[in-house]
Amino acid sequence: MEAGRELFANNPMSVICATVCNHEMQCAGNCMLGRKGTPVHFSSIESYISDAYLDRMTCPPIVKKNKRVAVIGSGPAGMTVAIVLGEQGYDVTVFESRDKIGGAMQYGIPEFRLPKSVLTRYKKKMQEIGIVIRPNTTIGGALKIDDLIRDGYASVFVGTGVWRPKTVGVRGESLGNVAMDVARTAFRHGAKRVMLFARGKRVTASSHEVSYAMLDGAEFMYAREIESITPEGPVFKKSVLDENGKIISYEEDRELVHADSTIICISQGPKDKLINTTHGLKGIDKGLLVVDENCMTTIPGVFAAGDVVHGSKTVVHAVAEAKKAAKAMMEYMEKNN
Ligand SMILES: Cc1cc2nc3c(=O)[nH]c(=O)nc-3n(C[C@H](O)[C@H](O)[C@H](O)COP(=O)(O)OP(=O)(O)OC[C@H]3O[C@@H](n4cnc5c(N)ncnc54)[C@H](O)[C@@H]3O)c2cc1C
Repeated sequence: MEAGRELFANNPMSVICATVCNHEMQCAGNCMLGRKGTPVHFSSIESYISDAYLDRMTCPPIVKKNKRVAVIGSGPAGMTVAIVLGEQGYDVTVFESRDKIGGAMQYGIPEFRLPKSVLTRYKKKMQEIGIVIRPNTTIGGALKIDDLIRDGYASVFVGTGVWRPKTVGVRGESLGNVAMDVARTAFRHGAKRVMLFARGKRVTASSHEVSYAMLDGAEFMYAREIESITPEGPVFKKSVLDENGKIISYEEDRELVHADSTIICISQGPKDKLINTTHGLKGIDKGLLVVDENCMTTIPGVFAAGDVVHGSKTVVHAVAEAKKAAKAMMEYMEKNN
């Protein structure tokens, strides 16, 4: 129980990070034992402890602060802020556009990698702390940030992520971990053959995600740039690469790959709904929010963290930034309300 307490105090999304983080690049990848042999399997240990702890943990009696906080978005950033502030006695309401909590953990990461039951368990814990969850409520529609401030929320957190799919032709990664999820999900929905195409000569997905996709039967094609999508399937031109893997030109020939479906996985950008409907909220790059070193946006008392600030990243990155934001929100509310 003590180990569980420590893990959750450090990272409220501990159970989830133990499952979905890129451990080979993070904890295990930095373990000194790994230099000469096998690294410590932190993720397995963390998974065992935090999974056992999640249902057993009890909340210490909370001293109420009598201050209301609005959290917009229930991804890992919003959940982290809600839990940290809820445990500190703030009255937290989470506004979520969708039906269920979890953001990209719920609607992006597939079930075979992250069982969604864990998010149901989180929801129960959050409600036990006293956090109010309002699903199917989009801020920036009938209800705006200005309304929340007017209605007396002492501070507002924006953790709305990136939910606008990028279209082919924009700059960006040609093949990330998401493509591996898509390929593996396609097999689980009956696809007989799945081919993955990358512009360059390597993939940006982690090696173990690539291995799993290969084990499922995915085929990888490199140095292919998409030119058009036809009813018969996508058409590619072959990239000519220099010795560093940089694309220097394209071959003349075009290649039609016969396919029933073409799925584009080149990341997402932010929606600009909140910027368009909130006076004084500034963004860059079509919707990423501008924040200072304390995660405060251009409106005093309105904070933001996670993908909506940095673009598409990871769960652990969203948690780390959200912890920083939660601390700054508490300091702000102590000083200003
Ligand atoms: C397919 C896929 C697989 C991934 N796999 C991994 C992985 O294995 N490991 C990893 O670490 N990361 C992974 N990621 C990335 C990771 O999930 C995200 O970086 C992380 O969830 C970002 O957290 P967030 O809280 O900033 O935003 P999100 O998780 O995107 O949550 C934002 C929430 O805000 C809600 N919302 C948006 N606008 C509004 C509004 N106006 N009003 C109210 N609510 C709103 C959304 O519905 C959503 O629930 C994956 C992402 C995808 C898409």
